[in-house]
Amino acid sequence: MFEILSRWRQARRLKGLDPAAQRRWQARIDALPILAPLTAPERDRLVTLGWCFLHDKRFTPVDEAPLTAEDCIDIALQAALPVLNLSLEHYGHFHELLIYPEEFLSPRHYVDDNGVEHQGVEELTGEAWEQGPVLLSMSELAYSGSWDGFNLVIHELAHKLDIANGGLANGHPDLPPALRQPWLAAFPLAYAEQCERVNEAERTDRWDGVWLDPYGCENEAEFFAVCVEAFFTDPIALNTAFGELYALLKAYFGQDPLPRAPQWCPYPRIQPSEIPTT
Ligand SMILES: [Zn+2]
Repeated sequence: MFEILSRWRQARRLKGLDPAAQRRWQARIDALPILAPLTAPERDRLVTLGWCFLHDKRFTPVDEAPLTAEDCIDIALQAALPVLNLSLEHYGHFHELLIYPEEFLSPRHYVDDNGVEHQGVEELTGEAWEQGPVLLSMSELAYSGSWDGFNLVIHELAHKLDIANGGLANGHPDLPPALRQPWLAAFPLAYAEQCERVNEAERTDRWDGVWLDPYGCENEAEFFAVCVEAFFTDPIALNTAFGELYALLKAYFGQDPLPRAPQWCPYPRIQPSEIPTT
């Protein structure tokens, strides 16, 4: 019943999307490499979901961020990609996106290995609060949309998918029952292996064996967000590094980005100095 109501609402809202608006949204899909290869029915569905996302959420520019209508469409379309074959209900627990012009400072509190508490601030390009908005910086958004393994919008919304399952970001989204046990078996192993690879790369200064963003080693929540980011923007890397995780994400999202991706591999892949903090 809930699903039917949701579809009815989407259909009602789409009455506002006239042919000129349809062309405008389709042009933005053409401009974003990770979206351009979608089939015509997928593109139509993406526009529907993006349009509804844009009207369900409040987009708030902060610090005079020069946010344009085109920027909002780009954000909405990329936000819609992960839920293309799910539904917008997966994003139902947050209401606002704060858009900053540049990186922003976020308060940080943590306890180190010796039990000492630290308070401070950290410069971020994006953040997803467990109970609150998604924060995005326009300077990083400008780089989102390519097949390069990085996508700020998808990364932060992956955190929201994670948080939607019980209110905590821990790398365990609300999976269908058949996927839960395989995920519990595969995900912690992949996380441990990624941390091992990054430790080894740091020790030897050889990064060619690190296929995914080393930032994923911060914790399991970041590893999940990095894997989802790679699934949609560098599926070759994720499938090569962690094929089992790729297959599980493919089943969860109900789509397979691998055939859409360019079949080349831009090496060397990731240099530590290029890693944004999200
Ligand atoms: Zn993150």
